[in-house]
This record gives sequence, C-alpha cells and structure tokens, in this order.
Amino acid sequence: MTPPADYVEMSQAAEVSTPGPWLRDSGVDTVMEEDQSRLEVSSLLRQIPAVDELLNCPDLRALNERFGHRLLVEATRKVLQNLREKIASGNPAAVSLEELEKEIQAEAETAASFFLQPVINATGVILHTNLGRAPLAREALDHLAETAAGYSNLEYDLERGERGKRDAHTDRLLTQLLGAERTLVVNNNAAAVFLALNTLAEDAEVIVSRGELIEIGDSFRIPEVCAKSGAVLREVGTTNRTRASDYAAAINERTRVLLRVHPSNFRIVGFTERPSLDELVELARKHRLLLMEDLGSGCLVDLVPWGVQDEPLARMSLKAGVDIATFSGDKLLGGPQAGILAGKSEFLERIRKNPLFRALRVDKLTIAALEATASLYLRGQPDSIPTLRMLQLSPKEIAARATRLAEKISPRPGFSVTVREGESVLGGGSTPGQALATSLLAVTHVQHSAQMLEDMLRRHKPAIIARVEKDELVLDLRTVFEDQEEEIARAFERIT
Ligand SMILES: *Cc1c(COP(=O)(O)O)cnc(C)c1O
Repeated sequence: MTPPADYVEMSQAAEVSTPGPWLRDSGVDTVMEEDQSRLEVSSLLRQIPAVDELLNCPDLRALNERFGHRLLVEATRKVLQNLREKIASGNPAAVSLEELEKEIQAEAETAASFFLQPVINATGVILHTNLGRAPLAREALDHLAETAAGYSNLEYDLERGERGKRDAHTDRLLTQLLGAERTLVVNNNAAAVFLALNTLAEDAEVIVSRGELIEIGDSFRIPEVCAKSGAVLREVGTTNRTRASDYAAAINERTRVLLRVHPSNFRIVGFTERPSLDELVELARKHRLLLMEDLGSGCLVDLVPWGVQDEPLARMSLKAGVDIATFSGDKLLGGPQAGILAGKSEFLERIRKNPLFRALRVDKLTIAALEATASLYLRGQPDSIPTLRMLQLSPKEIAARATRLAEKISPRPGFSVTVREGESVLGGGSTPGQALATSLLAVTHVQHSAQMLEDMLRRHKPAIIARVEKDELVLDLRTVFEDQEEEIARAFERIT
C-alpha cells in the first residue's frame, strides 16, 4: 500500500531536517511551546532532529554501550517515526529532548529484552498449555544445563569408543519404568502417533472408535493425523457406544492396526460403552493385528489417592498387551515436551528406521531433562517433580498460603480479600471435569474491576496470570511456587 502523497512529503521533509531550535539551545526544553497553532505541520516536522544527531547526544552515547549501535538506531527511528505520526495527525504533543531520550531508552530496553519470559501461574491449571505445561524438576534443570554447556556422549558409546545412539540414555530408564521392551522419544505425542501410524499402517487401514476421534487443542485431530500418516481411517461404532464386535466387523485384509485413543479432554457420559483393553488385545491377537494406544497424558504413578481418576497408567496398558503406547513427556509425567513411544521391540525398531524419525527426533536438552525426570521416578522420588507436587497439595495447605498472602493485600486501601473454597484443574488435555479441591484467594477493589486487576497483574514484571470469576479476581496458589508469593504481594502494592 502506498502512503498518501502528503504523508510521504512530510516524512521526507523530516529526514532532511535541520536541527530544531530546542536541540541547539539546551535551555529550551519543549519543541513547540508557543505559537503552536500557527506553525505548519511541515515546519514542525522539520524541527525533528536526524537520527545521527540524536545518537550523538551524550546520554544516548552512553546507551550505545548498553544496547549496541544497531539496536539503538532502530529504537531512535521508531521513536522519531512515532513523533512524526503524532504531528502529522495534528496532534503535536510538546516533546523535550529529555523525553525523547527516555522514550528511546524504553524502546531499546523492550527490543533488547526477551519476549519469552517466565510468568507466575496463579490460574491453578497445573498443565497450562499456554503457559508452557509442566515446570521441570531441579534435577532436570541441572542435568539439562550441564549437558547444554559443553559436549556430551549424546551419540557416543563411551565403553566402546564408537558411535552410539541417542535413544540409549532414556531407553535404559523408560523400559524399566514402563515394563516395555523398547522405547523411543520424539518431539511430542502428536509426532509419536504420526510416526507410528506412518511406519506401521501406511496404505493400510486403522480402526478407531467414533467415540475416540478426538481433537486436542491447536489442531491435533486423530482423523487428520491418520490421513497425513498415509493410513486409512476406519471409523466404527457410534459416538457414545462402541463394542468389540464393531471392531471385529470392520476387520478386513487391509486392516493393520486397532487404535485406541484416550479421550483426554472430554467425557461421554450416560448411555455409553467402550470395549475393555483385554477385549481389544484378544481381538488384535486373533486377527494378527497391532494394537496401539494413544494414552495422551503418560501417567507413570497412580494418582487416584490424590483424586485423579481416569488416567490410565502406561505400564498397565503395556502389561495388558498393547503393542505400542504413546504419550506426552510434558503432561502428567512432568518432564520436557516430548512424545514417548513404548512397547514391543519389533515394532519400535521399525519406527526407529523410518526416515521421518530423524525429522522428529529430540535434541540433547530434551533427552537430558527427560532422563533426569525418569530417574526421579525410578528412585522413588516423584515428589521432586513440580507437577506431581502441585497435584498433591491439599486445600488446607493452599489455604494457609492464601491466608498469608491475603494478610499482605487486605490492609491496602480499596482492597477486599477473602479466602474461599474452589477448584483447580489439571489441564493440558488430561482429565476433563476432573477438578481438585483447592482454596482460592478472591480479590476485589473499590475502583478497579476484576478485569482491570487481572490486566494489571498480567502487565506486571514478571507477569502474573490469574482468573476472573463472577467479578472477582481469583488466584489459586496451587500452581504458584512459594518463593513467588512475595512478588505477587509486590504487584498488589503497585495497584493504587
Ligand atoms: C495431548 C494429547 C496429544 C498431543 O500430545 P502433544 O504432546 O501435545 O503433541 C495426543 N493425543 C492425546 C490423547 C492427547 O491427550
């Protein structure tokens, strides 16, 4: 799109500007103090200093060291462009050199800061996909850092002094944990499902129950993944009821795989039926088919004592006779983003040889974090994994922390704070409607709406993400680390 002619003219005028009087005479600190109305827009634009000129001011020269020339030039251009636009739109705010410098510094700071930044998760959603799912355990972070900082035996066999396999590091632990013959790790569970189907069912038929044709957030849809893998989807049964006989009736000479999918993020309730795993195992054996299960979450320990139902244990699926199970590394497992394939060697070796494995494989950082996380399970210390620790917090423990924080916020003028019962959710496409009892900190303010409070916390540095419920700002400390509570208190201090 070409800008309007007069605009071009004005900005050209600005580029060849002679220094404004306010620059030459440091005593004058506003650009257009008087006679503003009589000055033509173009003459205002002419007063804007050139980029080089500004950069030579002593204060900005100091910034040069902090941000580098390139970034500072860009920031200066942007600030001057904003000023031009303001003037062109007939809105010539008075601007001092000092102000311009401040704006340039702020602009440079924004440009130099990381866009990916830590946030405080006060939503109570433990596996919040938008907030990065599982936070890693200290052991995982340490192992990741030491592996990342230098060289490692990623693909080097130290015993034999020859090339090794990157799968070896995690396979050693995961096979034990899962009771699997062999495991593989790829980029995420979507990749695991895709790669398995592509390897084992390309140009063949895969039978899936209509009650399991799921979509997970951000466009993971079973029918589409199937299609892309080259497998032909055969839907059987109905949305609410599918029997083993429905699978059996659909089996033909092109059938290769029975795929069972954990309906992670929804439930069908009421008049429902789903064949048991044993029935499917029997059917697959009888017809020499492969039984594959997409478990979604990858639950490695029984979470029923903490009120989480319906999360199948990967180990139990394999024990029941599933040939290949797939699940995520960063859901209930509490590790890094990854997709884990576990099951019979025969099939996993074939998957490993698929040329696409190379395209979907994980890097050393993921391997390090996953190895350390798996090691915590093996050593019987799953409580060192933040996801599992958060999940186990009782409403009473959370209430004690919420009360402590409430005591810091409530004396501040305008605030009204209560601690009340509520629910946390697991999130991350696991256990829908599976809420954990929690204690919520509910905050209102005489002037600011809950939405405004939410907005202010979100703009705090570090950002604090809370929920709005029925005109109250609601914080669930289940997902807040204890050493972050002080920061939340500080954020409220800033709100007046
Ligand atoms: C979450 C989920 C996926 C996708 O896993 P990612 O690791 O996010 O790729 C696939 N299938 C099921 C059943 C899931 O719950």
